[in-house]
Amino acid sequence: MNSDFLIIGGGVAGLSTAQRLLQQGALVTILERGEIGQEASWAGGGILSPLCPWNYPDEVTRLTTRGAGLFSAWAEKLHTATGINPEYKQSGMLVLPPFDAQTAAHWSAAHNAYSVHQVHATDYNPHTQGDALYLPEVAQIRNPRLLRALRQHVESLGGHITEHCAVSNIVVENGRVQTLITSNGKFNAQDYIVTAGAWSKEVLGRHALRLDIKPIRGQMLLFKFDVSPLRNIVLQEDLYLIPRRDGHLLIGSTLEDVGFDQRTTSEVRDMLWQRAQKILPSLRDMPLVQHWAGLRPASPHNIPTIGRHPQLDNLYLNSGHFRYGVTMAPASAEILLNEITGRQQPFDVTPYQAGWGA
Ligand SMILES: Cc1cc2nc3c(=O)[nH]c(=O)nc-3n(C[C@H](O)[C@H](O)[C@H](O)COP(=O)(O)OP(=O)(O)OC[C@H]3O[C@@H](n4cnc5c(N)ncnc54)[C@H](O)[C@@H]3O)c2cc1C
Repeated sequence: MNSDFLIIGGGVAGLSTAQRLLQQGALVTILERGEIGQEASWAGGGILSPLCPWNYPDEVTRLTTRGAGLFSAWAEKLHTATGINPEYKQSGMLVLPPFDAQTAAHWSAAHNAYSVHQVHATDYNPHTQGDALYLPEVAQIRNPRLLRALRQHVESLGGHITEHCAVSNIVVENGRVQTLITSNGKFNAQDYIVTAGAWSKEVLGRHALRLDIKPIRGQMLLFKFDVSPLRNIVLQEDLYLIPRRDGHLLIGSTLEDVGFDQRTTSEVRDMLWQRAQKILPSLRDMPLVQHWAGLRPASPHNIPTIGRHPQLDNLYLNSGHFRYGVTMAPASAEILLNEITGRQQPFDVTPYQAGWGA
């Protein structure tokens, strides 16, 4: 299989990067250790915004704002091209106390990205009470559908996908990657892109330099109502409830530093369920449909690393998106493509090179 680009890892970062390259006419192969889109990108909640956007540095705001801004048209195009509807929906997000209203108001005035209104929670959801903040522009997507649509689109554009193919070694000679050693033999291309999420540092091995990407586990619960009990996403500190159009309700999540352990725990299940009941009492009598865990690719300050390796000319990285990799996906792929093709960037992208520490 002849390829211009070999992409290592088939989550949202790998698929969106492949899609952009294919649209430029490149020959692209994705090598995926398991099956496409079954790790963090599948496990996430699909909120297309930082949880409390005013708590993050500008590097995160820029990328999430750009990503969120591209999402509606991206989802629409994927739907049209594949017939799979990723259910993009601007459902708004209600933030319940405690919160710092002043910081939120200053941030909103300064950034012009999201409006933040002080509201009565009951006006937005009958089950919520007291003062709240409302962010009407916040949207959501259904991750498994987005991934299925992306996969289908990548394949229809001529992208090649090799599943059950784990990359174990990157062979370098004369300052360039020559070959990938995998469980399915050797693979060669002109250029190589690592999009292996929480495993990116392990995939890069000694070429990771000072990259600090590590797994942080998050657990999620899923319930199903006949009619959605909430109109908006509801957030209280780190706990969120995401209502889907068909009555499904997702509840998340945790930030657990437990290495590559992907097991769920009954303690977290009970904790999330009990906290969510305080917001939505009817959850007490609902059966739990599913409980899962995913490993986020955590980076310091939530800032991913996107771009060329500082020492190896034909090696690139698009990883470390931590809590917001779905939101950032279209913008990260755009930035990487701009770098590869030498096009102008939409903003200063040097902060996304700092992760190499070189
Ligand atoms: C519980 C939870 C909730 C979240 N909620 C949100 C949210 O609401 N909004 C948001 O924007 N983001 C959210 N996120 C974060 C988001 O899901 C991640 O940032 C994003 O999915 C990372 O995508 P990725 O493609 O880099 O990683 P992944 O989806 O993990 O993909 C990496 C792929 O690389 C493959 N791979 C690994 N090693 C190898 C190898 N050696 N060879 C070949 N392939 C390999 C893996 O099998 C995997 O398929 C959440 C994450 C979790 C876990």
